[in-house]
Amino acid sequence: MDVKTADAALLQTRYRLTRQRSGVLHALGDGAHLTAEAILERVRSEQPQVSLGTVYRTLEILRGLGLVQAFTPAGGASLYEAALDKHHHILCTRCREVRNVTIPGLATIASEAAGRLSFDDVDYALTITGRCPSCSTEERASA
Ligand SMILES: [Zn+2]
Ligand SMILES: [Zn+2]
Repeated sequence: MDVKTADAALLQTRYRLTRQRSGVLHALGDGAHLTAEAILERVRSEQPQVSLGTVYRTLEILRGLGLVQAFTPAGGASLYEAALDKHHHILCTRCREVRNVTIPGLATIASEAAGRLSFDDVDYALTITGRCPSCSTEERASA
């Protein structure tokens, strides 16, 4: 299931985003999971003067606003994405493609488990790993 992508124009109005911030958000507008370097590449096509440091600072600000979510796969670089809906990730261990999954009922399970240990302010993140359909097909073909 696809998570709806950020409406950059709407967010820009609501949060009075600077040009750099809206540039970074726009780079994530298609729902991609990108490294900071890949975001820089996209932003630079419109704003050639932007540096990697600026992209990192801007990502932190956008995370603080709850507009961007970071995700670090085991053994990989951090990936950033627009974050409007709670979702989890499924990672192909062969091609490293990351896709979004929603898991109805997981919020209830997480808060019940945390409640048994008297935790509040609970958050959770799940990463499922496996082989994507095209990697499975390729592996079967080369076997
Ligand atoms: Zn794959
Ligand atoms: Zn995601």
